[in-house]
Amino acid sequence: MKHFDVIIIGAGAAGLSAAGAAIANKKSVAVIDMGHEPARKVMASGGGKCNITNTDAKYTRYFGENPNFVRGALSRVSPNDILAWANEHNIELYQKTPGRYFCVNGAKDVTDALMQDANGAHFVFDTYVSGVSKNGDMFIINSPNKTYQAKSLIVATGGTSFATLGVSDMGCKIAKSFGHKIIPMRPALCALAISGAKSELAGISINAEIKIGKVKIQDDLLFTHFGIGGPLAYRASLCDMSKEIIINMAPNIDVGQMMRDAKRQCGKKNIASVLANILPMRIAKLIAGDKQRNIADIKDREIDIIANNVNNIVIDKSKIKPHGLSSAEVVRGGVATDDISSKTMESKLCPGLFFAGEVMDIAGDLGGFNLQWAWASGRVAGQNA
Ligand SMILES: Cc1cc2nc3c(=O)[nH]c(=O)nc-3n(C[C@H](O)[C@H](O)[C@H](O)COP(=O)(O)OP(=O)(O)OC[C@H]3O[C@@H](n4cnc5c(N)ncnc54)[C@H](O)[C@@H]3O)c2cc1C
Repeated sequence: MKHFDVIIIGAGAAGLSAAGAAIANKKSVAVIDMGHEPARKVMASGGGKCNITNTDAKYTRYFGENPNFVRGALSRVSPNDILAWANEHNIELYQKTPGRYFCVNGAKDVTDALMQDANGAHFVFDTYVSGVSKNGDMFIINSPNKTYQAKSLIVATGGTSFATLGVSDMGCKIAKSFGHKIIPMRPALCALAISGAKSELAGISINAEIKIGKVKIQDDLLFTHFGIGGPLAYRASLCDMSKEIIINMAPNIDVGQMMRDAKRQCGKKNIASVLANILPMRIAKLIAGDKQRNIADIKDREIDIIANNVNNIVIDKSKIKPHGLSSAEVVRGGVATDDISSKTMESKLCPGLFFAGEVMDIAGDLGGFNLQWAWASGRVAGQNA
């Protein structure tokens, strides 16, 4: 049986970040991963360009039972720390939108830098961890072929979405075996299937707003044959899906007022062409329906109905469903943060047991927030293990 100071399960973003920190602390470290190579999600992230961080990473951009939990790690490892780290490793970055950083030469630069920091760790690939137990103050980590022993264990097994990149729920099983509560997992940062969706709109993209409960998000929305996709739907999928959603296809425009003005100023225009001033023609025609009449001929009551169909489309919760784990970028749910220290990532129930990254009940907004969480929680766990 091989002995280490620290064993990390998972060679993803969080696990490698933890390995680098533990190596810097002069610990003997092993990293065990069921996959053939490290950082597979990092390599796929940001369309291959890895959206490495976002300078707006504060707790309000995170979801889970207790998003406040991220404050401890993010105050210790901030987006600026990650930018400095990238700079030290000569990773060239660019901002796609203000504060949202991607890699000029692709995600491999990030993986190489992580592996460079973790140099000295013992890597074990193609090895599925099938269970963990504790004997005295030593963790016994089992795989089908070998057993490992460590004083500290960092569980960095990620979420269960995007299975083609190799995922498992073993992290939650291990946490549960040590008494941790598990929040059920569901897909997030994904498209939303809407029953009765208008497939004739598929392919159209607009800037729109979604309101769910008290949350309002404005971003680009893509109509698909099964519902909605694009950044706006992805971000909405992080929210509480037990509520209706309200879509506003013209968030900065009072369509009722606009139509009343048009009625006065250019009454001979038909409804679709008035709506086409603010919406793609295909949507304008669908909303106008068979009303090819001049706008001057329609009553204010009808204008209100049309305006509602643009500014206030209410979709009942029973008609909405996140569009599957296989294409979701993250999961909501995982190991509850209640019994984990936000300062060290150590379990409050089992000394020496640490968690890092998406395996915990934390999911970040679209835009580099999930990797920022993986880097920060991983580094904090590695420093304290
Ligand atoms: C397509 C895609 C694009 C994304 N793009 C971005 C982006 O641009 N920016 C951003 O911030 N976020 C992005 N994300 C989300 C981000 O990649 C993840 O949140 C992040 O990688 C999670 O890191 P992690 O280390 O916690 O988990 P993972 O990266 O999933 O790593 C977990 C590791 O644990 C291993 N493992 C699991 N179970 C076992 C077991 N039983 N035994 C051994 N090994 C095990 C897995 O093989 C895996 O290597 C994207 C996600 C996807 C799917």
